[in-house]
Amino acid sequence: MVRILCMQKTLAIILKKQNLGETDRIITIFSPVFGKKRVVARAVRKPLSKLAGHLDTMMVSQLILTRQDDLPKITSAELVESFDNIRSSFTLLEKSFAITKIIERVILEDISQQTIFQFTLDALTRLDEQYAWNNVWLTFLSNLTDELGISITDFTCLNCAKKIQEDAAIILSDRRFICNSCLHERLQYKKISKNLIKVIQVLNKNKFDYVLRLQIPDIVAKEVEEVYLREITQWFNKPWQHYSAI
Ligand SMILES: [Zn+2]
Repeated sequence: MVRILCMQKTLAIILKKQNLGETDRIITIFSPVFGKKRVVARAVRKPLSKLAGHLDTMMVSQLILTRQDDLPKITSAELVESFDNIRSSFTLLEKSFAITKIIERVILEDISQQTIFQFTLDALTRLDEQYAWNNVWLTFLSNLTDELGISITDFTCLNCAKKIQEDAAIILSDRRFICNSCLHERLQYKKISKNLIKVIQVLNKNKFDYVLRLQIPDIVAKEVEEVYLREITQWFNKPWQHYSAI
């Protein structure tokens, strides 16, 4: 009997690898078509393996996989982007892990996630090309909050509806701002600077080319990062019906 093995082709960011048995590896990939997937690379740890060199963490490769539900095998891998700068610098590597660690928690298994894939790839490419990190990182976080439906879009005071133009506070549970005159102690808030609002507005409205022109001081970048990360981690803890992996 002839066994027909259907193959499937996909681009993939290599997120993680772990040894399996004597010579194999389980590779966690992010594919635009299949989302997060664990796949097996047979004999990849043998000397002269054809797959090795295409399947290292942070590489982007074109893969051909066997069609199996549990653990598909990689039958061929062809390197598309090696991100040499990232992979040869400890500092850049650490930054790239900040991106992929969040992505690993957000993406689903076996579901197409083209948009998230694209902006993750953009962020890694910009990091590799050594664009200003604050701009790359905050653009990535802004894209992600947007995709998760938790972006900050209302820049008026929660209480008096005035436009926030001065230093104010953010109500952590609501993604809303409150002006200093309306602030009272019963609220759970965090003080924010008017610069944070400016940066978030620019990130919301503009493409990266424009965002790149912005000089974001580290102190403001930290502030914006914290607000975004708080939103994203809150989202992690929400019960989410489709995302069994989280
Ligand atoms: Zn107010």
